[in-house]
Amino acid sequence: MYNFPQLLQSASFRFKSAAEMRSLSFYETRNKQGWFQEVDGMTLRPNSTVRHTLVMKFGGSSVGTAAAMAQVVQIVRAEKRRWHNVIVVTSALGGVTDLLLKMVQDVSASEATFQADAGELLQRHQQIADALIADEKQRGAVMREIGGLIDRVVNLCQAASVLGETTPRVKDAVASTGERMCVRLLAAALQTAGVKAEFVEATQLIRSDDHYTDAHPDLEISFRLTRETLEPVLALGNVPVITGFIAATAQGTVTTLGRGGSDYSAALIGVALPADDVWIFTDVNGVMTADPRLVPDAFTVPVCSYREVTELAYYGAKVLHPKTIRPVIEAGIGLRVCNTFNPSHPGTRLVAELEQQRGVIKAITNIGGLQLVTVEGRGMLGVPGVAARAFDTVARLGTSVPLITQSSSEQSICFAVPADATARVLNNLTDAFAHEIFHRDIDRVWATEEVGIITVVGAGMKSTPGVSGRVFNALGEAGINVIAIAQGSSEVSISLVVGADEIRPALQVLHALILRPENP
Ligand code: ADP
Ligand code: ASP
Ligand code: MG
Repeated sequence: MYNFPQLLQSASFRFKSAAEMRSLSFYETRNKQGWFQEVDGMTLRPNSTVRHTLVMKFGGSSVGTAAAMAQVVQIVRAEKRRWHNVIVVTSALGGVTDLLLKMVQDVSASEATFQADAGELLQRHQQIADALIADEKQRGAVMREIGGLIDRVVNLCQAASVLGETTPRVKDAVASTGERMCVRLLAAALQTAGVKAEFVEATQLIRSDDHYTDAHPDLEISFRLTRETLEPVLALGNVPVITGFIAATAQGTVTTLGRGGSDYSAALIGVALPADDVWIFTDVNGVMTADPRLVPDAFTVPVCSYREVTELAYYGAKVLHPKTIRPVIEAGIGLRVCNTFNPSHPGTRLVAELEQQRGVIKAITNIGGLQLVTVEGRGMLGVPGVAARAFDTVARLGTSVPLITQSSSEQSICFAVPADATARVLNNLTDAFAHEIFHRDIDRVWATEEVGIITVVGAGMKSTPGVSGRVFNALGEAGINVIAIAQGSSEVSISLVVGADEIRPALQVLHALILRPENP
C-alpha cells in the first residue's frame, strides 16, 4: 500500500509547476476510492472533483463507421461527467478527404464518376445518421444539409473540369467539406445520446493566411476568435463539436492546415482556451514502437518527447501531426495520444524533453516508394555549388527530399525522391548540369531501383555510444544490405536506405533491439 501524504510530498519535488503536474493528469486508474492520478505506476492524489477543460480530437478512423462513431459518443458522454468543459474536434470520416481530393483533382473525370462519388459520400453519412440519430426530423434536417454540401462539391468539381484545372483554393473548398459534414452528424449523434452538443465551423475560430492546402494560422487572432466563439457555447454547458483541419482567411475564404491537420486544430483550440488536457484519439494505443500494420509485435511508447515525435512524423509515422506538440507542451497543457477503441489504455504522453532514457532506441519508422538519385563525378570537387544547384532543381519540381547523403570525398551527392518523380528529376538534373556533364566534371546522374528509408529514433542515442554499431550488426547478421545512411541533425535519429523488398525484414530486425518496458 502506498502512503498517501508521503507520496504527495515526494511528488511535489518532482514537478516544477502545477501545469507540469496537470500534464500528467490522464494517468488515471479507477479504484474503490474514486479517481486517482497515477504517475509511473504511483498513485499520487485523489481526484474525485470535476476537472476543468478537456479537448478531445477524433481522427478519421474513429468516426469512419456507425460503430466507431457510437464509441466516440460513449467516450464524450463519459468525459462530460468528469470535466466541466468538453470540446470535441473531429476529422472527416476515414477516407472521405481522400475521395474529395480525388474528385477535385481528376479534372478529366466524367459526369457519371462525379455522381458515383457523390452517391458514395451521401451513403456513408446516411448509414451513420440512420444508426445514430434517433429523431426522424432531426435526421432529415442533418442529411439535407449534408446533401447540400455534397451538391456544392459536385458543382465545384464540374467547374474545375470545364476549366481543365483546379486551383489550390478550390481544392480547399472541396477538401474542407469532409469535416463540415462530419460535425453535423456527430453533434446530432451526441444529442441523441443525451449530450448537449452543437457543431461549430473552425472558419469562425482559426484565422489563417491564404497559403491554400497548407495554411499558416495567425495565432493571436485565432486565440481571440476561439475564446470569443466558444466561451458562450461552454457557458451553456454545451459540447462544441468543431471541424478539424480547416480555417479561414481574413476575407472568409476557407483554407486547410495540411493533411492530418486536425491534430493541429485541436492543439490550437486547446492553447486558446486554455485547456488542461488535449487528448488525440486514434485507432491504435498511442505512439507505438513501429507501424503496427508492418510490425505486429509493436508496442506503445508510454512517454515521447517533442523531438522524437517530430522525427517520427517526418520519417513516416504520421500518427500525430508534428505541429501539434510544441504549442500544447509550451503552454503546460497535458498532451496524450490514445485509442478510441481501447479508451482505458493510457496511450502515449508527450513531453517537452525527457530527462532519463530507459531504452535507447525508442521507435522505428519507414517510408517506402522512393528512389535514390546520385550526381557523381571526379571533377565535382572543383565545381562550386553543385549541391545547392541540384536541390534547387529538385525544389522547382515541388518534389520533397526526405534524405540526403554526401560522400566525404565530395565526389557524389545522393538523395531520396519519391519514385513517381524520379524520371522528371533525372531529366531536369541532366539539363541543369549539361555544361558540367559535357566537360566531364560530372560523370553521370542516375537513380537506384526502388528503396525505402528506415529511421531509428530515440533521444537517448546521442549520449549512448555504439548504437549505430548495434544497428548495423543486427542488419548485417540478417543479411540486409544498407545502401546509404544519414544521421538526423538533431542526433535523435539514424536513417538507413534499404531495398524495397528489405523494408519489412529490416523493420523486424531493428524492432527486436527496442527494450520492452517491464510493465507494458
Ligand atoms: P487518425 O485518423 O486517427 O488521425 P492516422 O491514420 O492519422 O489516424 O494515424 C494513425 C495510424 O498511424 C495508425 O492506424 C497506424 O497504422 C499508423 N502508424 C504509423 N506509424 C505509427 C506509430 N509509430 N505509432 C502509431 N501509429 C502509427
Ligand atoms: N481529414 C483531414 C485529412 O485526412 C485532416 C485529418 O484527418 O487530420 O488529412
Ligand atoms: Mg491523423
